[in-house]
Amino acid sequence: MKKLFLFAALSFSTLIFSQKKYVLVIHGGAGTITKASMTPEKEKAYTQKLKEALKAGYSEIKKGNSSVEAVAASIVILEDSPLFNAGKGAVFTADGKNDLDASIMNGKDKSAGAISGVHTIKNPIKAAIAVMEKSPHVMLSGLGAEQFAAEQKLELVNPEYFWTIERWDGLQKLKKKETEKKIGQNMKNEILKSYEIDQKFGTVGAVALDKNGNIAAGTSTGGMTNKKWNRIGDAPIIGAGTYADSLVGISCTGWGEYFIRATAARTIAAKMEYQNKDIKTASQETIDEIEKLGGDGGLIALDKNGNIAMPFNTSGMYRGAVTENGEIEIEIYK
Ligand code: ASP
Repeated sequence: MKKLFLFAALSFSTLIFSQKKYVLVIHGGAGTITKASMTPEKEKAYTQKLKEALKAGYSEIKKGNSSVEAVAASIVILEDSPLFNAGKGAVFTADGKNDLDASIMNGKDKSAGAISGVHTIKNPIKAAIAVMEKSPHVMLSGLGAEQFAAEQKLELVNPEYFWTIERWDGLQKLKKKETEKKIGQNMKNEILKSYEIDQKFGTVGAVALDKNGNIAAGTSTGGMTNKKWNRIGDAPIIGAGTYADSLVGISCTGWGEYFIRATAARTIAAKMEYQNKDIKTASQETIDEIEKLGGDGGLIALDKNGNIAMPFNTSGMYRGAVTENGEIEIEIYK
């Protein structure tokens, strides 16, 4: 009897995130996320929010709306939640600001939009979509991006809206550790050290496949705690943090510098297009390459047949997916 139960449990777990046709996959960031560091309340809060985001995106797909609309619906829920490092709850820069980045790509026509370094746009993903659909450009930054968002009548907020005590405390802790850990060799090493001790990422992303077979991918983030000099990570860079074409869509999270150097998202699509690799192999190889370079993080990918991959080399990644029948699956730890 015991054996039978074990067998049933094993076959159930191997079925999770496999063999089904998925239409939406999301992440809420990868990092040092362990069961030991989590309270049951926190775990429940994250699970519920991921579920809500999956439901919102799935409802768009079910209605027959586009994959871009599904991605937007999911990401807006996560941006509005202080749990994640995107929109409200974004991490702080070294000078105490919330500097937001986001991007979107529509695999149907390879159109794309991104914004970087904004402080007043309530939902950065909406601004990225507006750049894609309403401007002749792909990427806008800073004040110009905010001006554009205002012209598009997107909701603007006072920068204080993004402030949360957890992220503020996170910045203070990191600054303290940074001073303690200064190794004095050169600026580059000191900055690298300060990122190494900030192992809690929390970017959000979504990839959707709509009823017409079109894929879209989007990513939104506050970047990395204590970032300096208007640093920009991979999240708003098409081909690095986000990519979608007619075969596959990808959204990444993790130590952005490495994802940029590995042109992570595009590399997965290229492996599939030119080397005929399946989504799992292409995604895992790319994470392995990032690890070899010294970086960490994870990604989500969804292909035109509804297969998904969610590799990461950290201890956890908030992630979830919905099948075409609306079954929801959520995982946090490795
Ligand atoms: N990739 C983001 C960045 O480097 C951070 C993250 O995903 O947590 O800005």
